[in-house]
Amino acid sequence: MTDHFSRRGFLSAGTLLSTGVPPAEPARKPLDISDCAPKSMLRVHETRVERSRFPVIDIHTHLSFSTKSEKGVFLAGERMYPMPAVDILQIMDRKNIRTMINLTGGFGAGLEDAIARYDKAHPGRFYTFTEPSYHRWEEPDYPKAQAELIGSAHRAGARGLKIVKTIGLYLREHVTSGRLVKVDDRRFDPMWDACGELRMPVAIHVSDPLAFFTPTDRFNERFEELNNHPDWSFHGGDFPSNAEIIEARNRVIQRHPRTQFLALHFGVAEDLAGVSNDLDRFPNLSVEFGARIGELGRQPRAARRFIEKYQDRVLFGTDAVPHGDDTPQQVFGDKLYEIYYRFLETDDEYFDYAPARVPPQGRWRIYGVGLPDNILEKVYQSNAARLLGI
Ligand SMILES: [Zn+2]
Repeated sequence: MTDHFSRRGFLSAGTLLSTGVPPAEPARKPLDISDCAPKSMLRVHETRVERSRFPVIDIHTHLSFSTKSEKGVFLAGERMYPMPAVDILQIMDRKNIRTMINLTGGFGAGLEDAIARYDKAHPGRFYTFTEPSYHRWEEPDYPKAQAELIGSAHRAGARGLKIVKTIGLYLREHVTSGRLVKVDDRRFDPMWDACGELRMPVAIHVSDPLAFFTPTDRFNERFEELNNHPDWSFHGGDFPSNAEIIEARNRVIQRHPRTQFLALHFGVAEDLAGVSNDLDRFPNLSVEFGARIGELGRQPRAARRFIEKYQDRVLFGTDAVPHGDDTPQQVFGDKLYEIYYRFLETDDEYFDYAPARVPPQGRWRIYGVGLPDNILEKVYQSNAARLLGI
């Protein structure tokens, strides 16, 4: 030991003697996580997939919006339109998109307007879904009235019903105040039944990424995203857990076996074993992967096995929104579709799941699942065509 220490002492004394200055310490600078944007040095194959191998039905898009919302509850039927149909069609034609499903069609006159602008003006290229009339929630005959509204939406041309996490996480007994209304509240039963009778699939988004239900702290894998959008966190307060929401959703699916449910965002895309269990239990359930290739692509072997096993019940969706840059994983355009096609069609490794400087839904990259043609065709269009009856 004495010998070792004296050697080190001798060496550093030697350096000091020969240069006259002590050796410099390596520079250490603090780096804010938001400034960090490391470039991968991997030399891996990059495939550009400009057009999908088969025509696409995008089951999850938002081409119209409610003009009025309060505390997460969408209350107006009137619609805003971020992009005219003719401009949307240009991108669709370039990217081999046969049909887009506009889930947020609203209700009443707004719904009719959306259907006139898209579905009727461009037959076969657009279909529109209706949404519940939450502003009527406190009316004593709401359950019956809402079921009748589904009927009138169907007569107006709506092809399905869209549920956002309003049910379970925003809608309260007095619409925006009071106790949260549960996903399996019996007052919605006539609405689910009406959808079954009219063969209108229910596109249901009731939970959210698991990280949104945990504290926004240094252990949260989506810290930056939640820090940018604090209202996306469902941790604390009187919010139910994600598991409670999914259990309530499953009770609804079980109680209404004649109604087809499409779990948007893959249900819980971080838990493929759980989603697999749900699909095994409920033959009236299918899934789509809008805004979740970031999750599927970071577990590519499990995702591929999953899609192979449930190849008749996985649908193509992007959650595309034709405006803004707040959520780059959703901005409607060529880049978005090329990423989805690359994920589905190639074996490429370690690429961005969104067109953004920093991965917006967590700092990781994804891997392609390289699906064979027969499965690709089903996922791209025929599973959706069957569900929609088109
Ligand atoms: Zn969506």
